[in-house]
Amino acid sequence: SVQNGQDLRSPICCIMGHVDAGKTKILDCIRGTNVQEGEAGGITQQIGATYLPAENIRERTKGLKADAKLNVPGLLVIDTPGHESFTKLRSRGSGLCDIAVLVVDIMHGLEPQTIESLNLLKMGNTDFVIALNKVDRLYGWKTFRNAPIGKAIRQQSKDVMSEFNRRLTEIITQFKEQGLNTELYYKNKEMGETYNIVPTSAISGEGIPDLLLLLVQWTQKTMITRLTYSEKVQCTVLDIKAIEGHGTTIDVVLVNGVLHEGDQIVVCGMQEPIVTSIRALLTPHPMRELRVKGTYLPHKEIKAAQCIKIAAQELEHAIAGASLYVVGPNDDIEAIKKSTVEYKNSVMSRIHKSGKGVYVQASTLGSLEALLDFLETPAVNIPVSSISIGPVHIKDVKKASAMLDKKKEYGTILAFDVKVTPEARKLADENGVKIFTADIIYHLFDQFKAYIDNLKE
Ligand code: GDP
Ligand code: MG
Repeated sequence: SVQNGQDLRSPICCIMGHVDAGKTKILDCIRGTNVQEGEAGGITQQIGATYLPAENIRERTKGLKADAKLNVPGLLVIDTPGHESFTKLRSRGSGLCDIAVLVVDIMHGLEPQTIESLNLLKMGNTDFVIALNKVDRLYGWKTFRNAPIGKAIRQQSKDVMSEFNRRLTEIITQFKEQGLNTELYYKNKEMGETYNIVPTSAISGEGIPDLLLLLVQWTQKTMITRLTYSEKVQCTVLDIKAIEGHGTTIDVVLVNGVLHEGDQIVVCGMQEPIVTSIRALLTPHPMRELRVKGTYLPHKEIKAAQCIKIAAQELEHAIAGASLYVVGPNDDIEAIKKSTVEYKNSVMSRIHKSGKGVYVQASTLGSLEALLDFLETPAVNIPVSSISIGPVHIKDVKKASAMLDKKKEYGTILAFDVKVTPEARKLADENGVKIFTADIIYHLFDQFKAYIDNLKE
């Protein structure tokens, strides 16, 4: 869509925050509003993402009296729950997502995973807005369904308002302790230096229009270069999944360019680059038909930004987190194959020079990179001797057990967001290899630290 002479793509947004802060519920609310009223409003549920066309956002933000000039075609909100979404969306050290929503429960303030999210955002240099969620839990809150937050707050009792202000001030102080200036977005006079807070209720929808409008207007204002649509395909593999009737498929985020059925593609494999061609470009059925199980809509072509499932041969050994390349008629396929594995090789080579250290394993290149960054920080400083992606298998335990002789504590596997096969677990128990698993990076550190302290005693 060409507007104002600019051809912008949809910003990509992911949602982060402590467990139970309301991440899923906010997504439900973003998706659900118009569906409940019987009109999908053009919203489509993509693979692990929700696409909101600008029309839908304009309609929902009418009450804000913001003469909403939307220059982007829509907003792509990534649904993958938890931190996973963010680490999975990492690519070559920086985030694939253009902006994040950090959800904070107004009744709880900053919690451990809020702080971990903040650290991930800082490391990825990713901009974000704060959704101060569950305002409806303030005692005596009067509901104004899906209303702009300013309007809803103005109509509350004095008690509710003062309780709101008390909690807000406390949370602003907590952010300050983390080195961040924050302010209610409609009072924020230094946007860009001071982060925006949008009070929301994911249950009754107050503030959700504000959140949507802010995300779109802020990104299109401050990220024009980043959001300028480019024909050159920029695409990252999010997930590898076996789907009945389609074999092994990959879910991808298409950030720029167009993908076509039949395109020859190259993706990163565990051993070698995989060259194949797109058999089908798939998206789930539109909202209303989501319950139709196991069926996907095929497309001849899809333009960025979107999340798409790709069916093709040979995808069994694909690695999540790496880029997908399209081979054009004049392209040198060998050069492309080389580029495909560059990122993997750079991550895989980040092992300690001494050859001594723990074994780390993660779900995607992005999450692996995030884990390695964390382990390298001076406060943590855990050396790594070997690296792998995907579930922990026997071969990983065997490799890790070789460290036991060098230093007992290094006979350890730190497994982030991956499964451990029962055989691997059994062998580890027999050999004395410790396997720590977690979905949250710093939990791995806590477990490992407790283990070392225990060894020292
Ligand atoms: P997540 O772990 O961050 O994804 O949190 P969920 O979205 O699963 O929400 C956790 C719990 O909080 C659920 O019981 C939700 O119904 C509830 N919840 C989420 N948002 C709100 C809100 O705005 N108001 C109220 N009252 N409850 C909420
Ligand atoms: Mg959730």
